[in-house]
Amino acid sequence: MELINKISREKSAALFAEAKKYFPGGVNSPVRAFKSVSGPPLFIKEGKGAHIIDEDDNRFLDFCGSWGPLILGHNNDQIRELVIATVAKGTSFGTPNRLGNQLGKLILDNNKVIEKLRFVSSGTEAVMSAIRLARGVTGRNKVIKFEGCYHGHVDSLLVKAGSGLVTFGESTSAGIPPAFIKETLVLPLDKPDLLDQTLQQHGEDIACIIIEPVPANNGLLLQDEAFLKHLRKRSEEYGILLILDEVISGFRVGFEGASGHYGIQPDIATYGKIIGGGMPVGAYGASAEIMAHVAPDGPVYQAGTLSANPVAMAAGYAALKQLLEPGFYNKMAEKTQNFVQKIQQHCDQRGYEVSIPTIGSIFWLAFSHKRITRADQIEADSMQKFKILHHELLQRGIYLGPSGYEVGFVSAAHTEADLNEAAGLIGEAMDVVFAG
Ligand SMILES: *Cc1c(COP(=O)(O)O)cnc(C)c1O
Repeated sequence: MELINKISREKSAALFAEAKKYFPGGVNSPVRAFKSVSGPPLFIKEGKGAHIIDEDDNRFLDFCGSWGPLILGHNNDQIRELVIATVAKGTSFGTPNRLGNQLGKLILDNNKVIEKLRFVSSGTEAVMSAIRLARGVTGRNKVIKFEGCYHGHVDSLLVKAGSGLVTFGESTSAGIPPAFIKETLVLPLDKPDLLDQTLQQHGEDIACIIIEPVPANNGLLLQDEAFLKHLRKRSEEYGILLILDEVISGFRVGFEGASGHYGIQPDIATYGKIIGGGMPVGAYGASAEIMAHVAPDGPVYQAGTLSANPVAMAAGYAALKQLLEPGFYNKMAEKTQNFVQKIQQHCDQRGYEVSIPTIGSIFWLAFSHKRITRADQIEADSMQKFKILHHELLQRGIYLGPSGYEVGFVSAAHTEADLNEAAGLIGEAMDVVFAG
């Protein structure tokens, strides 16, 4: 089916052509290149609230939210004001600063998950450091991860399942030494028996099990609470540290993230995205006892030139403070539920094979009626449908992340009216998808 452009992407196209001279694929992060949807990527020049505006002056209701950080929407007044006031005094000193204390205190005072934390500058850095910490604490090398979970571009985690059921994986990127891959075991989600088998064989060598408790980087693969609790129980039995990678779910499905939502206590938690209020911040945290292994208190080295710089801390502090307002997360979940239900109804009435898994303010448009809990259950064909949907939505002023494997995020800035209108337009776009 031919996709017809009603909106102009002339300026974005020209900027993208120029960007290709400077950056591989014209981008600084691969999925931004629009490879799996149609047309050049949009160059966004401005955002306010729930909307973004591109260089061609098209305005979109945004469900990407910079891939998750912007739970308060774009250009939030309180974040902007504190950031500007902070920038006015200098951007980074490479020393401790008061704003770092403030953000640290705010986080630790309002969760039961971690007792101490270390700020870093990205989710990848948080995960990479958490893995090192787990190895340092346990004196073991191997890591278990799950197919369909993304943990940033950490060498030893860019691994997928090879052939065979319980297996050492193969890398998903060139440039990763086989010796690293050997230390990573990849299991399917939602298969407690396979985990048990693997632990019987390798349990004593495993430093940590890492999982996205809300797997949201390969569709939204919501897990049974029982599976997550099983991981908790087994890791304890084998002296393995459980790392919950809360880079997306942290401060998103609740202030305490998925740990709070499911009532599961990780040994180490990693954060990113929302924690920085739109600035580059990540963090990893654990009990005081585990964090005592981190330098300079302990032997696990980890450092960062721009870590916890005052501007990033200001953005995080101004953001997280707003998330603590009573009822914030209930309201977000309710709003998202209503929105999703409207789309679902439209699809059900017309017999479209669509379901929309949701948790908190995260949703995923899945072209299937089956409950999907594992990466291999997503049909490749559904990505063709997504491509049409994505294009039709751009024509209607709605911006989704440019891949069918990406989830959508509702922000506090999305009004009921925004969401009602969007539900109608998504219904219209679905009509086009299923007419084809
Ligand atoms: C985004 C993400 C990361 C990587 O964070 P970056 O800031 O992009 O390095 C790691 N883990 C999860 C679960 C993520 O969603």
